[in-house]
Amino acid sequence: MTATLIKGTVIREEILEEITKEVAEIKEKHGVVPGLVTILVGANPASMSYVTLKIKTAHRVGFTEVQDSQPNDISEADLLALIDKYNNDESINGILVQLPLPKQIDEKKVLNAIDPDKDVDGFHPVNVGRLMIGGDEVKFPPCTPAGIQEMIVRAGVETKGAEVVVVGRSNIVGKPIANMMLQKGVGANSTVTVVHTGTKNLDAHCQRADILIVAAGVPDLVKPEWIKPGACVIDVGVNRVGEKISEKTGNKIAILKGDVDFDAAKEIAGSITPVPGGVGPMTITMLMANTLKSLKFKLGMI
Ligand code: NAP
Repeated sequence: MTATLIKGTVIREEILEEITKEVAEIKEKHGVVPGLVTILVGANPASMSYVTLKIKTAHRVGFTEVQDSQPNDISEADLLALIDKYNNDESINGILVQLPLPKQIDEKKVLNAIDPDKDVDGFHPVNVGRLMIGGDEVKFPPCTPAGIQEMIVRAGVETKGAEVVVVGRSNIVGKPIANMMLQKGVGANSTVTVVHTGTKNLDAHCQRADILIVAAGVPDLVKPEWIKPGACVIDVGVNRVGEKISEKTGNKIAILKGDVDFDAAKEIAGSITPVPGGVGPMTITMLMANTLKSLKFKLGMI
């Protein structure tokens, strides 16, 4: 069997097109567009390239994008005051603080200061609680899990009654996606098992999965014999395993590998996400979706 590829690069384009159309309609009817602010402290190269991509995507879909760059030695009090300013700014619907922050700043304190109704990353404890309750309570599902669920739905994979096994229990991927898949509703209603380093017989759990979601950060952790024939395999892992010279640019680029032995797994799975080009492109896409949602909440459209 050769699995169908679930390509994040393709699904991203579909969703960004939908967002662009909706933003234009809202602008026409209400005279406003979503506003997203990204606060970047210091000049960490990885953070800067991620922020650049966010800005480019926000512009593409027609948002107002504010990039607020702050020096590496900004005090915690000044950063909290900045967040307060954007919490009270009517033109801003989403606030993003790019992590990591310098050591003089308590990251938790800063993230918790963001108005939960502008927390488009979905990491504020209020939004974590809303996600746990489910249904109408959910405002902003965290972006990577939201992207995973969207890929499963758009690939036409049946989730109702499906055995879902999630490898990993982090706060940003494993726990929220497990919680989302067990809720009642479309793209969920599954029977969920979460496995981790304390789990016995990891292989036996994975073998039961109709949908296997792997977010461990261990290259090739999941072996082909752990996969149920025909299963949907979502590989969230992004592991740098070396470097190579890009044929396009001649520059050094990272060689990336997922948490699943892709070449062997694709002969057994029914559908599978590649790395790169799978879950990766979905995170920024869902950030745009959450920011649009924030404006729609404000306008009473949802
Ligand atoms: P994390 O915080 O390090 O959590 C990893 C989880 O996997 C932990 O719960 C850990 O278990 C579990 N785990 C690790 N090794 C295991 C093993 N051998 N057997 C069973 N469980 C194991 O990582 P994360 O932030 O969730 O990220 C996971 C991966 O996804 C990383 O490669 C990351 O780069 C990638 N990622 C991609 C995106 C994206 O594409 N947009 C976004 C986020 C993350 P314990 O709890 O027992 O330690």
